[in-house]
Amino acid sequence: MRQDIPKSVDVLIVGAGPTGLVAANHIAYAGKSVLIVDRNPAPLNLPRAISIDDEGCRTIAAAGLAEPLRAILRAGAGSRYVDENGGIVGEVGPGPVEYGWPRRNNFHQPELERVLRAGLERFSHATLVYGAEMTGFHQSPGGVTAMVAGVPVQVAVMIAAEGARSQTRDALGIDMPGEAYPQDWIVMDLHRDADQEPVSKFFCDPARPWVSIPTTFGGRRYEFMLLPGETADEMLKFDTLQRLLAPIRPLAPEDIMRAVVYRFEARIAERWGEGRVWLAGDAAHLTPPFAGQGMNSGIRDAHNLAWKAVLVAGGADPAILESYQAERRAPAKAMVQLAVAMGEVVMPVGQGKALFRDCLLYTSDAADE
Ligand SMILES: Cc1cc2nc3c(=O)[nH]c(=O)nc-3n(C[C@H](O)[C@H](O)[C@H](O)COP(=O)(O)OP(=O)(O)OC[C@H]3O[C@@H](n4cnc5c(N)ncnc54)[C@H](O)[C@@H]3O)c2cc1C
Repeated sequence: MRQDIPKSVDVLIVGAGPTGLVAANHIAYAGKSVLIVDRNPAPLNLPRAISIDDEGCRTIAAAGLAEPLRAILRAGAGSRYVDENGGIVGEVGPGPVEYGWPRRNNFHQPELERVLRAGLERFSHATLVYGAEMTGFHQSPGGVTAMVAGVPVQVAVMIAAEGARSQTRDALGIDMPGEAYPQDWIVMDLHRDADQEPVSKFFCDPARPWVSIPTTFGGRRYEFMLLPGETADEMLKFDTLQRLLAPIRPLAPEDIMRAVVYRFEARIAERWGEGRVWLAGDAAHLTPPFAGQGMNSGIRDAHNLAWKAVLVAGGADPAILESYQAERRAPAKAMVQLAVAMGEVVMPVGQGKALFRDCLLYTSDAADE
């Protein structure tokens, strides 16, 4: 794998998150040259995706990475929904292993991204550069010229896997309607946890909803909804974290791997690109994490767009890229809507909503199955 910026390459991918890295692996695996850049100096280390579905696994396996992927996964054991009195109001099993991979798998996002970066090292025609920002681009009928860290790079196709704040989306004048949740959530990954039960637990307490999810590193992820008036600065203080967790587990400073306050959003871009420049992953859709599907949707985008980019780089009519939006936008929108509906189950703020949630869970098999 190269690490300098080439002046000409088949495909440029902007953003080395999971979406961009999966697309880069597929493009390089198909024999086309690919440059993937990220403006961050190093991979992000945030508490984000923790569950990958079977289709995501098959997609990464299709780039020749089945074995390193299997080595970092733990099969999901399902989810349990608990009400404010500790009563179990719903349980979702792990689901059958129907198509080669468990339906849900726990993983640690930095490990997955490490596997994907190592995948690129197999190819001399792949280049990954951190600390390199794409600052602008210009399309012509024959290709795209993008400015990357001050270098003009000629490409056949540009994939903008730039995450939520995509400047390519803005440059193309694409709106991303939807909404931000009024409540923030604190998400923390903790080392060492006495609770080694492999199920994800959703505590649908109207007073303060919270979530406890098993990890692959022997700890647990905890997520708590912030209440009106609570600020990120205050909530991220060690004393506050200790108080939040006091009924659940003891906390020492060295137990905290990482903790962040998020405002979740549910949005879908109106258009996903034009010509030879296309959005993928969080740049195209923002999915609240309640269904564990944001990254999985991005992996599906990456797979769909990658083989089309490979064809265009080989001389095919770039009009084929338009089928990407036709095939991916509606399923991604459905996933956003599913995640919003599951969020309603987890955060039933108010007794009326809690009653509705309990009826829903008692009478359904839950959307996850
Ligand atoms: C708490 C939480 C839990 C989640 N859990 C799950 C889960 O269990 N399962 C799941 O499927 N999803 C989950 N998600 C969603 C998932 O984390 C995201 O959908 C996914 O990480 C998005 O990947 P991406 O590659 O599209 O974007 P990102 O990971 O955001 O990467 C975009 C990259 O582009 C770079 N970039 C942007 N602009 C430029 C530029 N101009 N030049 C160069 N680089 C640029 C950025 O630096 C960034 O590194 C969760 C999210 C959260 C917040």
